[in-house]
Amino acid sequence: MPKAIINRDFTVDLYNLGLNTASYKDFVLENIFSQSLANRLIGLDNTKPIKLNFTATGVKNGYYLEGTIEYRLKGECSRCLKVINKIHQGKFKAFFTDRYNESKDNDSVYELYGTQADLTPLIIDTVGLSLDYKPLCDENCQGLCNFCGEDLNKTTSHKH
Ligand SMILES: [Zn+2]
Ligand SMILES: [Zn+2]
Repeated sequence: MPKAIINRDFTVDLYNLGLNTASYKDFVLENIFSQSLANRLIGLDNTKPIKLNFTATGVKNGYYLEGTIEYRLKGECSRCLKVINKIHQGKFKAFFTDRYNESKDNDSVYELYGTQADLTPLIIDTVGLSLDYKPLCDENCQGLCNFCGEDLNKTTSHKH
């Protein structure tokens, strides 16, 4: 029995989009992803749409999808605590199959409902993996002074 599809906004019918077995096609999908995805410091800004760019290839028992998810990050720098709000990208390779139960131990395998792929779990996995545990406002961020907390990015000669 196929399970209920949770998030209709990110469900694509690959067959109706003109993808028969053994053909492939480029897709762009842009929409608001309403679930919150974040670690302690940074996450997806879900007031802005996320954009999926992918190629889908029809094969026996399913479709291979390969592409990127572009989204806006919202959070703070792990060194200086400044607000981070910028575009970020995660890459994915996934297989959507109607034989999901036979291969669900594989991380990048997702369930296909007929010819419909619910991209929600793929988005959750891809964004989750692309979130930095120690996000930085800039690679060269100097952080805050351990003694007084002054932002060391704003000064060159800070001493005690
Ligand atoms: Zn910083
Ligand atoms: Zn100081």
